[in-house]
Amino acid sequence: MDADRAEEILPATNNGPCAMSETNATPMIGRQLARDLADVDPAVADAIRLETEKQAHKLVMIASENYSSEAVLQACGSVMSNKYAEGYPGKRYYGGCEFVDMTENLAIDRAKELFAAEHANVQPHCGTQANMGVYFAVLKPGDTLMGMELPHGGHLSHGHRLSFSGGMFNIVTYGVDRETELIDYDAMAEIAERERPKMIVVGASAYPRHIDFERCRAIADSVGAYLHADIAHPAGLVAAGLHPNPCPVADFVATTTHKTLRGPRGGLVMCKEEHAADLDRSIFPGIQGGPFEHLIAAKAVCFGEALTDGFKAYAAQIVANAQKLAGHLADSGFRIVSGGTDTHLLLVDVGQHDITGKDAEGWLNSAGIVVNKNTIPFDERSPFVTSGVRIGTPSITSRGMGADQMEAVACWIVRALESGGDDAALNTIAGEVRELSAEFPIYDWRL
Ligand SMILES: *Cc1c(COP(=O)(O)O)cnc(C)c1O
Repeated sequence: MDADRAEEILPATNNGPCAMSETNATPMIGRQLARDLADVDPAVADAIRLETEKQAHKLVMIASENYSSEAVLQACGSVMSNKYAEGYPGKRYYGGCEFVDMTENLAIDRAKELFAAEHANVQPHCGTQANMGVYFAVLKPGDTLMGMELPHGGHLSHGHRLSFSGGMFNIVTYGVDRETELIDYDAMAEIAERERPKMIVVGASAYPRHIDFERCRAIADSVGAYLHADIAHPAGLVAAGLHPNPCPVADFVATTTHKTLRGPRGGLVMCKEEHAADLDRSIFPGIQGGPFEHLIAAKAVCFGEALTDGFKAYAAQIVANAQKLAGHLADSGFRIVSGGTDTHLLLVDVGQHDITGKDAEGWLNSAGIVVNKNTIPFDERSPFVTSGVRIGTPSITSRGMGADQMEAVACWIVRALESGGDDAALNTIAGEVRELSAEFPIYDWRL
Protein backbone atom coordinates (compact mmCIF):
# COMPACT_ATOMS: atom_id res chain seq x y z
CA MET A 1 0.00 0.00 0.00
CA ASP A 2 1.49 3.36 -0.95
CA ALA A 3 1.52 6.41 1.32
CA ASP A 4 -1.31 8.26 -0.47
CA ARG A 5 -3.56 5.27 -0.16
CA ALA A 6 -2.69 4.96 3.52
CA GLU A 7 -3.81 8.52 4.17
CA GLU A 8 -7.06 7.89 2.38
CA ILE A 9 -7.78 4.84 4.48
CA LEU A 10 -6.54 5.80 7.91
CA PRO A 11 -7.97 8.88 9.61
CA ALA A 12 -5.43 11.64 10.03
CA THR A 13 -6.75 12.33 13.49
CA ASN A 14 -8.89 10.28 15.78
CA ASN A 15 -10.26 12.02 18.82
CA GLY A 16 -12.78 9.40 19.84
CA PRO A 17 -12.71 7.48 23.09
CA CYS A 18 -10.38 4.90 21.61
CA ALA A 19 -7.93 7.39 20.12
CA MET A 20 -4.60 5.67 19.66
CA SER A 21 -2.47 8.57 18.54
CA GLU A 22 -2.71 12.10 17.21
CA THR A 23 -1.75 11.52 13.64
CA ASN A 24 -1.71 9.15 10.90
CA ALA A 25 -1.79 6.21 12.96
CA THR A 26 -0.07 3.01 12.50
CA PRO A 27 -2.62 0.35 13.36
CA MET A 28 -2.32 -1.12 16.85
CA ILE A 29 0.46 -3.62 16.76
CA GLY A 30 1.44 -6.68 18.70
CA ARG A 31 4.33 -5.11 20.52
CA GLN A 32 2.32 -2.20 21.90
CA LEU A 33 -0.34 -4.55 23.16
CA ALA A 34 2.24 -6.85 24.75
CA ARG A 35 3.66 -3.99 26.77
CA ASP A 36 0.26 -3.07 28.15
CA LEU A 37 -0.57 -6.69 28.84
CA ALA A 38 1.88 -6.77 31.76
CA ASP A 39 -0.41 -4.34 33.63
CA VAL A 40 -3.71 -5.79 32.48
CA ASP A 41 -2.96 -9.48 32.99
CA PRO A 42 0.38 -10.18 34.64
CA ALA A 43 -0.15 -13.95 34.69
CA VAL A 44 -0.51 -14.21 30.93
CA ALA A 45 2.20 -11.60 30.35
CA ASP A 46 4.56 -13.59 32.50
CA ALA A 47 4.10 -16.74 30.46
CA ILE A 48 4.70 -14.77 27.28
CA ARG A 49 7.87 -13.29 28.79
CA LEU A 50 9.15 -16.76 29.67
CA GLU A 51 8.42 -18.02 26.16
CA THR A 52 10.22 -14.97 24.76
CA GLU A 53 13.26 -15.69 26.91
CA LYS A 54 13.31 -19.30 25.81
CA GLN A 55 13.10 -18.33 22.15
CA ALA A 56 15.98 -15.89 22.71
CA HIS A 57 18.32 -18.12 24.74
CA LYS A 58 17.83 -21.53 23.20
CA LEU A 59 18.49 -22.83 19.71
CA VAL A 60 15.08 -23.64 18.24
CA MET A 61 15.71 -26.53 15.88
CA ILE A 62 12.21 -27.94 15.59
CA ALA A 63 11.88 -28.39 11.84
CA SER A 64 8.29 -27.10 11.72
CA GLU A 65 8.96 -23.87 13.62
CA ASN A 66 10.35 -20.53 12.64
CA TYR A 67 10.60 -16.89 13.73
CA SER A 68 8.26 -14.63 11.76
CA SER A 69 9.35 -11.12 10.91
CA GLU A 70 8.22 -8.27 13.15
CA ALA A 71 6.03 -7.07 10.28
CA VAL A 72 4.20 -10.42 10.28
CA LEU A 73 3.79 -10.30 14.06
CA GLN A 74 2.42 -6.76 13.84
CA ALA A 75 -0.25 -7.86 11.39
CA CYS A 76 -1.11 -10.85 13.65
CA GLY A 77 -1.65 -8.51 16.58
CA SER A 78 -3.66 -5.94 14.64
CA VAL A 79 -7.30 -4.80 14.78
CA MET A 80 -8.05 -7.01 11.75
CA SER A 81 -8.70 -9.59 14.49
CA ASN A 82 -11.89 -7.73 15.40
CA LYS A 83 -13.57 -8.14 12.03
CA TYR A 84 -16.14 -10.67 10.86
CA ALA A 85 -15.90 -11.39 7.15
CA GLU A 86 -17.74 -14.62 6.26
CA GLY A 87 -17.55 -15.13 2.52
CA TYR A 88 -14.87 -14.04 0.09
CA PRO A 89 -13.60 -10.62 -1.08
CA GLY A 90 -16.44 -8.74 -2.81
CA LYS A 91 -18.98 -11.42 -1.72
CA ARG A 92 -19.27 -11.14 2.05
CA TYR A 93 -22.15 -11.84 4.42
CA TYR A 94 -21.08 -8.88 6.59
CA GLY A 95 -20.83 -5.16 5.95
CA GLY A 96 -17.72 -3.06 6.45
CA CYS A 97 -15.40 -5.52 4.77
CA GLU A 98 -13.73 -3.06 2.39
CA PHE A 99 -10.39 -3.04 4.21
CA VAL A 100 -10.13 -6.74 4.99
CA ASP A 101 -10.97 -7.29 1.30
CA MET A 102 -7.80 -5.34 0.48
CA THR A 103 -5.56 -7.53 2.59
CA GLU A 104 -7.27 -10.78 1.56
CA ASN A 105 -6.94 -9.86 -2.13
CA LEU A 106 -3.28 -9.03 -1.61
CA ALA A 107 -2.74 -12.38 0.09
CA ILE A 108 -4.51 -14.24 -2.76
CA ASP A 109 -2.65 -12.42 -5.55
CA ARG A 110 0.73 -12.85 -3.88
CA ALA A 111 0.16 -16.54 -3.13
CA LYS A 112 -0.73 -17.16 -6.79
CA GLU A 113 2.38 -15.32 -7.93
CA LEU A 114 4.65 -17.05 -5.42
CA PHE A 115 3.62 -20.58 -6.40
CA ALA A 116 2.45 -19.98 -9.99
CA ALA A 117 -1.01 -21.20 -8.94
CA GLU A 118 -4.28 -20.78 -10.82
CA HIS A 119 -6.41 -20.29 -7.70
CA ALA A 120 -5.67 -19.64 -4.02
CA ASN A 121 -7.80 -19.81 -0.88
CA VAL A 122 -6.01 -18.11 2.02
CA GLN A 123 -8.67 -18.78 4.67
CA PRO A 124 -7.79 -22.20 6.19
CA HIS A 125 -6.95 -21.76 9.87
CA CYS A 126 -4.20 -24.37 9.76
CA GLY A 127 -2.62 -27.07 7.65
CA THR A 128 -5.00 -29.75 8.87
CA GLN A 129 -8.03 -27.68 7.90
CA ALA A 130 -6.42 -26.94 4.54
CA ASN A 131 -6.28 -30.70 3.93
CA MET A 132 -9.82 -31.18 5.23
CA GLY A 133 -10.99 -28.51 2.80
CA VAL A 134 -9.34 -30.33 -0.09
CA TYR A 135 -10.78 -33.74 0.84
CA PHE A 136 -14.30 -32.41 1.32
CA ALA A 137 -14.12 -30.53 -2.00
CA VAL A 138 -14.06 -33.72 -4.06
CA LEU A 139 -14.31 -36.82 -1.82
CA LYS A 140 -17.25 -38.46 -0.07
CA PRO A 141 -17.11 -40.40 3.20
CA GLY A 142 -15.91 -43.93 2.49
CA ASP A 143 -13.91 -42.98 -0.62
CA THR A 144 -10.39 -44.39 -0.81
CA LEU A 145 -7.59 -41.98 0.10
CA MET A 146 -3.97 -42.97 -0.31
CA GLY A 147 -1.37 -41.28 1.91
CA MET A 148 2.12 -41.79 3.26
CA GLU A 149 2.70 -43.94 6.37
CA LEU A 150 3.10 -41.74 9.44
CA PRO A 151 6.27 -43.55 10.67
CA HIS A 152 7.79 -43.01 7.21
CA GLY A 153 7.29 -39.26 7.43
CA GLY A 154 3.61 -38.72 6.60
CA HIS A 155 1.18 -36.50 8.54
CA LEU A 156 -1.74 -37.37 10.83
CA SER A 157 -4.17 -35.60 8.50
CA HIS A 158 -3.21 -37.92 5.61
CA GLY A 159 -5.27 -40.79 6.97
CA HIS A 160 -4.06 -41.71 10.44
CA ARG A 161 -6.69 -43.59 12.41
CA LEU A 162 -6.68 -40.98 15.19
CA SER A 163 -7.38 -38.17 12.69
CA PHE A 164 -10.76 -37.32 11.13
CA SER A 165 -9.16 -38.41 7.85
CA GLY A 166 -8.62 -41.95 9.08
CA GLY A 167 -12.14 -42.24 10.43
CA MET A 168 -13.88 -40.83 7.41
CA PHE A 169 -12.14 -42.37 4.43
CA ASN A 170 -10.92 -45.79 3.44
CA ILE A 171 -7.19 -45.36 3.92
CA VAL A 172 -4.42 -47.09 2.03
CA THR A 173 -0.77 -46.19 2.52
CA TYR A 174 2.57 -46.12 0.77
CA GLY A 175 6.02 -45.57 2.24
CA VAL A 176 9.74 -45.52 1.72
CA ASP A 177 12.09 -48.26 0.57
CA ARG A 178 13.80 -50.07 3.46
CA GLU A 179 17.28 -49.74 1.95
CA THR A 180 17.33 -46.25 0.43
CA GLU A 181 14.75 -44.70 2.77
CA LEU A 182 13.44 -42.81 -0.28
CA ILE A 183 9.78 -42.92 -1.37
CA ASP A 184 9.23 -46.18 -3.24
CA TYR A 185 7.40 -44.90 -6.33
CA ASP A 186 7.21 -48.35 -7.93
CA ALA A 187 5.43 -49.71 -4.87
CA MET A 188 3.23 -46.60 -4.82
CA ALA A 189 2.17 -47.34 -8.41
CA GLU A 190 1.40 -50.98 -7.56
CA ILE A 191 -0.65 -50.09 -4.49
CA ALA A 192 -2.56 -47.48 -6.49
CA GLU A 193 -3.27 -50.01 -9.23
CA ARG A 194 -4.58 -52.52 -6.67
CA GLU A 195 -6.55 -50.14 -4.45
CA ARG A 196 -7.82 -47.60 -7.02
CA PRO A 197 -7.80 -44.58 -4.64
CA LYS A 198 -9.93 -41.57 -5.50
CA MET A 199 -7.14 -39.29 -4.28
CA ILE A 200 -3.42 -39.66 -3.67
CA VAL A 201 -1.90 -37.28 -1.14
CA VAL A 202 1.84 -36.70 -1.24
CA GLY A 203 3.91 -34.60 1.12
CA ALA A 204 5.37 -35.25 4.55
CA SER A 205 6.46 -33.91 7.91
CA ALA A 206 9.67 -35.84 8.30
CA TYR A 207 10.98 -36.63 4.83
CA PRO A 208 14.32 -34.96 4.12
CA ARG A 209 14.34 -35.45 0.35
CA HIS A 210 12.69 -33.85 -2.67
CA ILE A 211 9.47 -35.40 -3.91
CA ASP A 212 9.01 -36.26 -7.59
CA PHE A 213 5.60 -34.71 -8.18
CA GLU A 214 5.56 -35.55 -11.87
CA ARG A 215 6.00 -39.21 -11.09
CA CYS A 216 3.15 -38.94 -8.57
CA ARG A 217 0.97 -37.25 -11.22
CA ALA A 218 1.64 -40.10 -13.63
CA ILE A 219 0.68 -42.65 -10.95
CA ALA A 220 -2.50 -40.74 -10.12
CA ASP A 221 -3.39 -40.51 -13.82
CA SER A 222 -2.85 -44.23 -14.28
CA VAL A 223 -5.78 -44.91 -11.93
CA GLY A 224 -7.83 -41.74 -12.49
CA ALA A 225 -7.11 -40.32 -9.01
CA TYR A 226 -6.87 -36.71 -7.93
CA LEU A 227 -3.37 -35.66 -6.89
CA HIS A 228 -3.09 -33.57 -3.75
CA ALA A 229 0.35 -32.26 -2.70
CA ASP A 230 0.83 -31.11 0.87
CA ILE A 231 3.94 -28.91 0.99
CA ALA A 232 3.46 -27.72 4.60
CA HIS A 233 7.13 -28.30 5.39
CA PRO A 234 9.09 -27.27 2.30
CA ALA A 235 6.76 -24.43 1.11
CA GLY A 236 9.42 -21.77 1.68
CA LEU A 237 11.92 -23.79 -0.33
CA VAL A 238 9.32 -24.28 -3.09
CA ALA A 239 8.65 -20.53 -3.12
CA ALA A 240 12.37 -19.89 -3.48
CA GLY A 241 12.72 -22.35 -6.36
CA LEU A 242 14.85 -24.77 -4.33
CA HIS A 243 12.37 -27.64 -4.18
CA PRO A 244 10.09 -28.95 -6.98
CA ASN A 245 6.81 -27.02 -7.20
CA PRO A 246 3.74 -29.29 -7.44
CA CYS A 247 1.38 -26.50 -8.59
CA PRO A 248 1.83 -27.16 -12.33
CA VAL A 249 0.87 -30.84 -11.98
CA ALA A 250 -1.27 -31.36 -8.86
CA ASP A 251 -5.03 -30.84 -8.69
CA PHE A 252 -4.65 -29.35 -5.20
CA VAL A 253 -1.69 -28.03 -3.22
CA ALA A 254 -2.02 -27.28 0.49
CA THR A 255 0.46 -25.78 2.87
CA THR A 256 0.90 -24.20 6.24
CA THR A 257 2.27 -20.66 6.27
CA HIS A 258 4.26 -20.89 9.51
CA LYS A 259 7.01 -23.40 8.75
CA THR A 260 9.76 -22.68 6.18
CA LEU A 261 7.52 -19.96 4.72
CA ARG A 262 8.09 -17.96 7.93
CA GLY A 263 4.61 -16.46 8.16
CA PRO A 264 1.81 -16.53 10.75
CA ARG A 265 0.28 -19.82 11.92
CA GLY A 266 -2.18 -20.72 9.20
CA GLY A 267 -3.09 -22.67 6.09
CA LEU A 268 -3.33 -22.04 2.37
CA VAL A 269 -4.80 -24.13 -0.45
CA MET A 270 -4.15 -23.68 -4.14
CA CYS A 271 -5.80 -25.57 -6.98
CA LYS A 272 -6.53 -25.75 -10.65
CA GLU A 273 -9.22 -23.31 -11.77
CA GLU A 274 -11.63 -26.20 -12.49
CA HIS A 275 -11.69 -27.05 -8.75
CA ALA A 276 -11.84 -23.45 -7.49
CA ALA A 277 -15.58 -23.25 -6.80
CA ASP A 278 -15.66 -26.65 -5.05
CA LEU A 279 -12.67 -25.75 -2.91
CA ASP A 280 -13.99 -22.35 -1.86
CA ARG A 281 -17.38 -23.82 -0.91
CA SER A 282 -15.65 -26.57 1.02
CA ILE A 283 -13.59 -24.12 3.13
CA PHE A 284 -16.49 -21.70 3.70
CA PRO A 285 -19.22 -22.48 4.54
CA GLY A 286 -18.18 -26.16 4.48
CA ILE A 287 -15.77 -26.40 7.39
CA GLN A 288 -15.09 -22.88 8.67
CA GLY A 289 -16.97 -19.79 9.72
CA GLY A 290 -15.48 -16.32 9.80
CA PRO A 291 -11.94 -16.10 8.44
CA PHE A 292 -9.10 -14.88 10.69
CA GLU A 293 -8.49 -11.64 8.84
CA HIS A 294 -5.57 -10.59 11.06
CA LEU A 295 -3.77 -13.79 10.11
CA ILE A 296 -4.75 -13.33 6.47
CA ALA A 297 -3.18 -9.83 6.59
CA ALA A 298 -0.09 -11.45 8.10
CA LYS A 299 -0.12 -14.09 5.32
CA ALA A 300 -0.12 -11.24 2.77
CA VAL A 301 2.95 -9.76 4.50
CA CYS A 302 4.64 -13.18 4.57
CA PHE A 303 3.97 -13.84 0.85
CA GLY A 304 5.28 -10.36 0.03
CA GLU A 305 8.46 -11.12 1.94
CA ALA A 306 8.80 -14.53 0.28
CA LEU A 307 8.69 -12.87 -3.16
CA THR A 308 11.92 -10.98 -2.46
CA ASP A 309 15.46 -11.94 -3.46
CA GLY A 310 16.38 -11.71 0.21
CA PHE A 311 14.03 -14.61 0.94
CA LYS A 312 15.59 -16.72 -1.83
CA ALA A 313 19.00 -16.20 -0.25
CA TYR A 314 17.54 -17.06 3.15
CA ALA A 315 15.99 -20.30 1.86
CA ALA A 316 19.26 -21.31 0.19
CA GLN A 317 21.06 -20.77 3.50
CA ILE A 318 18.50 -22.98 5.32
CA VAL A 319 19.34 -25.88 3.00
CA ALA A 320 23.10 -25.22 3.12
CA ASN A 321 22.95 -25.20 6.92
CA ALA A 322 20.98 -28.46 7.07
CA GLN A 323 23.46 -30.14 4.72
CA LYS A 324 26.43 -28.84 6.72
CA LEU A 325 24.91 -30.09 9.94
CA ALA A 326 24.11 -33.51 8.47
CA GLY A 327 27.70 -33.78 7.23
CA HIS A 328 29.19 -32.92 10.62
CA LEU A 329 26.89 -35.34 12.46
CA ALA A 330 27.65 -38.12 9.99
CA ASP A 331 31.38 -37.47 10.40
CA SER A 332 30.87 -37.94 14.15
CA GLY A 333 29.39 -41.36 13.57
CA PHE A 334 25.65 -40.66 13.62
CA ARG A 335 23.55 -42.25 10.92
CA ILE A 336 21.44 -39.74 8.97
CA VAL A 337 18.24 -41.25 7.59
CA SER A 338 18.48 -41.52 3.76
CA GLY A 339 22.12 -40.49 4.04
CA GLY A 340 21.55 -36.74 4.09
CA THR A 341 19.07 -34.05 3.15
CA ASP A 342 17.88 -31.92 0.21
CA THR A 343 15.79 -29.72 2.46
CA HIS A 344 15.59 -27.90 5.80
CA LEU A 345 15.45 -31.01 7.97
CA LEU A 346 17.39 -34.10 8.87
CA LEU A 347 16.50 -37.23 10.78
CA VAL A 348 19.20 -38.65 13.01
CA ASP A 349 19.04 -42.34 13.90
CA VAL A 350 20.12 -42.15 17.57
CA GLY A 351 18.81 -45.68 18.16
CA GLN A 352 21.99 -47.03 16.59
CA HIS A 353 23.85 -45.65 19.62
CA ASP A 354 21.31 -47.23 21.96
CA ILE A 355 19.78 -43.86 22.73
CA THR A 356 16.02 -43.36 22.39
CA GLY A 357 14.57 -40.34 20.60
CA LYS A 358 12.79 -39.50 23.85
CA ASP A 359 16.03 -39.33 25.84
CA ALA A 360 17.82 -37.46 23.06
CA GLU A 361 15.04 -34.85 22.97
CA GLY A 362 15.26 -34.38 26.75
CA TRP A 363 19.05 -34.17 26.88
CA LEU A 364 19.23 -31.73 23.97
CA ASN A 365 16.57 -29.56 25.55
CA SER A 366 18.60 -29.41 28.77
CA ALA A 367 21.57 -28.39 26.63
CA GLY A 368 19.52 -25.51 25.17
CA ILE A 369 18.80 -27.15 21.82
CA VAL A 370 15.11 -27.72 21.15
CA VAL A 371 14.30 -30.60 18.78
CA ASN A 372 11.67 -33.31 18.67
CA LYS A 373 11.84 -37.05 18.86
CA ASN A 374 10.61 -38.71 15.71
CA THR A 375 10.06 -42.21 14.41
CA ILE A 376 12.41 -43.30 11.65
CA PRO A 377 11.26 -45.60 8.83
CA PHE A 378 10.62 -49.15 10.13
CA ASP A 379 11.20 -47.93 13.69
CA GLU A 380 10.84 -50.68 16.28
CA ARG A 381 10.22 -48.26 19.14
CA SER A 382 6.81 -46.70 19.81
CA PRO A 383 5.93 -43.15 18.66
CA PHE A 384 6.31 -42.01 22.29
CA VAL A 385 9.86 -43.34 22.50
CA THR A 386 11.21 -43.52 18.92
CA SER A 387 14.71 -44.10 17.57
CA GLY A 388 15.19 -40.72 15.94
CA VAL A 389 15.32 -37.00 16.37
CA ARG A 390 14.19 -34.54 13.73
CA ILE A 391 16.39 -31.47 13.44
CA GLY A 392 15.57 -28.38 11.35
CA THR A 393 17.49 -25.27 10.40
CA PRO A 394 14.78 -22.69 9.46
CA SER A 395 14.74 -20.91 12.85
CA ILE A 396 18.47 -20.64 13.44
CA THR A 397 18.89 -19.49 9.84
CA SER A 398 16.32 -16.75 10.50
CA ARG A 399 18.63 -15.61 13.29
CA GLY A 400 21.41 -15.20 10.73
CA MET A 401 23.45 -18.30 11.54
CA GLY A 402 25.47 -19.80 8.70
CA ALA A 403 28.09 -22.42 7.91
CA ASP A 404 30.48 -21.24 10.63
CA GLN A 405 27.93 -21.79 13.36
CA MET A 406 26.86 -25.24 12.11
CA GLU A 407 30.11 -26.80 13.22
CA ALA A 408 29.60 -25.53 16.77
CA VAL A 409 25.96 -26.64 16.75
CA ALA A 410 26.90 -30.12 15.55
CA CYS A 411 29.57 -30.40 18.27
CA TRP A 412 27.05 -29.48 20.95
CA ILE A 413 24.54 -32.00 19.62
CA VAL A 414 27.18 -34.74 19.65
CA ARG A 415 28.39 -33.79 23.13
CA ALA A 416 24.82 -33.79 24.47
CA LEU A 417 24.05 -37.18 22.90
CA GLU A 418 27.29 -38.65 24.23
CA SER A 419 26.75 -37.18 27.71
CA GLY A 420 24.39 -40.00 28.68
CA GLY A 421 22.19 -37.31 30.22
CA ASP A 422 24.84 -36.01 32.63
CA ASP A 423 23.47 -32.80 34.17
CA ALA A 424 26.79 -31.00 34.54
CA ALA A 425 27.79 -31.69 30.94
CA LEU A 426 24.40 -30.56 29.63
CA ASN A 427 24.51 -27.39 31.72
CA THR A 428 27.91 -26.49 30.34
CA ILE A 429 26.61 -26.84 26.81
CA ALA A 430 23.53 -24.75 27.66
CA GLY A 431 25.82 -21.93 28.78
CA GLU A 432 27.75 -22.03 25.52
CA VAL A 433 24.50 -22.15 23.51
CA ARG A 434 23.27 -19.10 25.37
CA GLU A 435 26.41 -17.16 24.47
CA LEU A 436 26.05 -17.92 20.78
CA SER A 437 22.32 -17.11 20.91
CA ALA A 438 23.10 -13.69 22.36
CA GLU A 439 25.24 -12.97 19.29
CA PHE A 440 22.30 -13.72 16.99
CA PRO A 441 19.28 -11.82 18.28
CA ILE A 442 16.30 -11.83 15.93
CA TYR A 443 14.01 -9.25 17.48
CA ASP A 444 14.57 -6.39 19.84
CA TRP A 445 13.85 -8.91 22.60
CA ARG A 446 13.39 -6.38 25.47
CA LEU A 447 14.48 -8.89 28.07
C1 LIG B 1 2.53 -29.38 9.82
C2 LIG B 1 1.82 -30.18 8.80
C3 LIG B 1 0.43 -30.09 8.62
C4 LIG B 1 -0.54 -29.48 9.61
O1 LIG B 1 -0.38 -28.29 10.06
P1 LIG B 1 -1.22 -27.73 11.31
O2 LIG B 1 -1.17 -26.27 11.01
O3 LIG B 1 -0.47 -28.14 12.51
O4 LIG B 1 -2.58 -28.28 11.25
C5 LIG B 1 -0.17 -30.76 7.56
N1 LIG B 1 0.57 -31.49 6.73
C6 LIG B 1 1.90 -31.65 6.88
C7 LIG B 1 2.64 -32.49 5.92
C8 LIG B 1 2.56 -31.00 7.93
O5 LIG B 1 3.87 -31.18 8.08
